[in-house]
Amino acid sequence: MGHRFPMAKYELLAGQLQHEGLVETTHWLTPTPIECAAVFDAHDADYIDQLEKGLWSRKEELRSGFPWSLQLIEREKIIMEGTRQCAQWAAQGHVALNIAGGTHHACRGHAEGFCLLNDLAISAYDLISAGLERILIIDLDVHQGNGTAHITGMDSRIFTFSMHGAKNYPMKKPPSSLDISLPDGTKDRPYLRALKEALDHILPTFDPQVALYQCGVDVLESDKLGRLSMSLDGCAERDALVLMACQQHGIGVACAMGGGYSEDTQTIVKAHMNTFRTAREIWT
Ligand SMILES: [Zn+2]
Repeated sequence: MGHRFPMAKYELLAGQLQHEGLVETTHWLTPTPIECAAVFDAHDADYIDQLEKGLWSRKEELRSGFPWSLQLIEREKIIMEGTRQCAQWAAQGHVALNIAGGTHHACRGHAEGFCLLNDLAISAYDLISAGLERILIIDLDVHQGNGTAHITGMDSRIFTFSMHGAKNYPMKKPPSSLDISLPDGTKDRPYLRALKEALDHILPTFDPQVALYQCGVDVLESDKLGRLSMSLDGCAERDALVLMACQQHGIGVACAMGGGYSEDTQTIVKAHMNTFRTAREIWT
């Protein structure tokens, strides 16, 4: 996509969470690379094979946003396992957050937009294999969850809700169960109103047993790719709305961090920190 992937935010976020005492040492999960049949429910076996062996063309590298390396694949598999474990916790009514993940552009048979494997789809299928029947995926990254929609599209056990910038990547947006496309420059109030309306509709009608929340912070006005105009406070209010609605519905939530491309990395970290802070406040 012509942009560098902001790797620094992950380490900064982990450091800041410890520094502020929001996450205690005993709270950390340290996932190993995923080894789970659900990977093959979400992705084609050929594609996984190609990923593992590095059989990528230049075109595929460009589409993914990364040069292929064994380390990259290992990193992605660890991220997948992180979200999968968070989802397992969420299924027991807890809140659990991955400091990475939210790789919603990864499709069944190809990588796209910095996403190689789709942690939301994999985790949803893993929960289904554990006996759950209604999984809600709430995707509030500013980019539409095209990969998740593509993978889970026809599966009535998974409700995909994506709220995103209408003019943002991806240009082709396969339908989610519910898509809300927002105009450029959308600010806090109209955003939060639309979100509340959607949640008020989805939760009682679909009656999910668990929620997976892609809480990308590229909705911020400061974001280089975002096109929306949310404030830091508005973004925190967004998280509170989602997490409180789920908690009131009696279900746990697994969060995956998603995008964030503000010029100032501190702004990104602040926005992600707010998600953790809000989760902690609501679940104590
Ligand atoms: Zn994004």
